[in-house]
Amino acid sequence: MTTRVWDYLPEYEKERDDILDAVDTVFSSGQLVLGESVSGFEAEFAAYHGLAHATGVDNGTNAVELALEAVGVGPGDEVITVSNTAAPTVVAIVAAGARPVFVDVRESDFLIDPELVEAAITPRTKALLPVHLYGQCVEIEPLRELAGRYGLALVEDCAQAHGARRHGRLAGTFSDAAAFSFYPTKVLGAYGDGGAVVTDDAGTDRALKQLRYYGMETVYYVVRSPGHNARLDAVQAEILRRKLTRLDTYVAGRQAVARRYEEGLADLTGPGELQLPATAPGNTHVYYVYVVRHPRRDEIIEALAARGIGLNISYPWPVHTMSGFAHLGQGDRSLPVTERLAGEIFSLPMYPSLPESRQDEVITALREVVAAL
Ligand SMILES: *Cc1c(COP(=O)(O)O)cnc(C)c1O
Repeated sequence: MTTRVWDYLPEYEKERDDILDAVDTVFSSGQLVLGESVSGFEAEFAAYHGLAHATGVDNGTNAVELALEAVGVGPGDEVITVSNTAAPTVVAIVAAGARPVFVDVRESDFLIDPELVEAAITPRTKALLPVHLYGQCVEIEPLRELAGRYGLALVEDCAQAHGARRHGRLAGTFSDAAAFSFYPTKVLGAYGDGGAVVTDDAGTDRALKQLRYYGMETVYYVVRSPGHNARLDAVQAEILRRKLTRLDTYVAGRQAVARRYEEGLADLTGPGELQLPATAPGNTHVYYVYVVRHPRRDEIIEALAARGIGLNISYPWPVHTMSGFAHLGQGDRSLPVTERLAGEIFSLPMYPSLPESRQDEVITALREVVAAL
């Protein structure tokens, strides 16, 4: 029997009646697009964050793009972000017409190094786009200070950080606009694609509602500035409404899986050996992925695959080294930490309903494989 790095079927087995009831609720409602399921989810998702507004959109990539556009990013602008991220972060910047500028990440938590950001700011810089990668918040205080001092927009990519907190405050509440993905693997996942942007600013929210609806003022059906069709599907919205009430339970489940890995693997760690995820001071980690590091990563992955255990790499190719972004001229070896990590990190199976017996098999196998290296 193989163990997958992620699987939704154990969850679906538990939640099937509720999920199917959500589908039926929309199909029976007489309104298949937007409507009460979308506006209800938006209100509840905003309230979860203690913010005034949320806009449901069709996926996380478009959530990032629309968030950038809503805060005024467009052609000719530069947006500072990281290369150690999911490629869609950067695809969204390019789709908004802007130019991504990459800074390196820290060895300690693999997240944006705030000390490198100021040197990357130019007169064209319009926004900072930190990514709360893997399930914990970046050190955002210095970024807020820089954004204020240089008059830049601050947008959070929260696609991997639903429910993550920093000094008690939720990811998504630190910026002008914050983008979420509800891709099925995410901490709050739909049964298909989905995304949202949250903001406390009424003007930004108005821009977002227009941008996802062709650019129309929905009351008058007038396009003032052409936008997108990027609506959140009503069925996914209704499913997300149900699942939002269980988000804290999902997070607790992931944290329990993480604790079990820690207990089972801590004695293997050390410099040049296995490195487990480190939670930065002040953070509550939600473990979207459980990313570990070992200099002999490829051998470990191969040996575990032979035992039917699937591991993932988030991410094997830093975005700035991808051919599709070569024109950005970041150079081949300009982000040393990011590039080193890409050859050494891998992710262990992680989802809230991962059975303990399965997880113990992973721990045992990893221990044997590392001992035999
Ligand atoms: C998943 C993800 C996205 C894109 O979300 P989609 O819903 O797949 O479009 C963007 N940024 C990060 C960091 C992600 O993990």
